[in-house]
Amino acid sequence: MNDCIFCKIISKEIPADIIYEDDHVISFLDIKGLNPGHSLVIPKKHCENIYSFDSETAQQVFTVVPVIARAIKQAVDANGINIGMNNEIAAGQAVFHAHVHVIPRYRNDGYQLWEGKPVSHEVSQDIADKIKKAL
Ligand code: 5GP
Ligand code: ZN
Repeated sequence: MNDCIFCKIISKEIPADIIYEDDHVISFLDIKGLNPGHSLVIPKKHCENIYSFDSETAQQVFTVVPVIARAIKQAVDANGINIGMNNEIAAGQAVFHAHVHVIPRYRNDGYQLWEGKPVSHEVSQDIADKIKKAL
């Protein structure tokens, strides 16, 4: 993709702090991470988001994610790691080359997790049925 910033990082047209690379996957530091060490793991094959992951791409990317998580935890002495992926604008996606965030966390780093909303068993059963039908 010509105008994709992450494809340009893959082709080394623009610089990044690359921490891992193999034939299919690359990982580099986020330019504006939540905490130092916040990294992105991305497939080299351009795809917009998780919906277009085939099982091969999923296997390649999600095999690297725990490797990066362990290395970040050790390197920056994190108390925890969040793994996240924003898919589509409504979910906060800003760069449309699929990427998994690997975010080091500390007990008192001030970031909050989202709050859940309680849902009735009736509603959750209905949603579970709909999801199962969609699989
Ligand atoms: P999204 O909101 O799409 O899940 O996150 C995109 C992430 O990419 C953001 O956290 C942002 O800081 C990071 N990012 C955007 N442009 C660049 C860039 O040119 N280089 C690097 N290393 N990270 C970037
Ligand atoms: Zn791309």
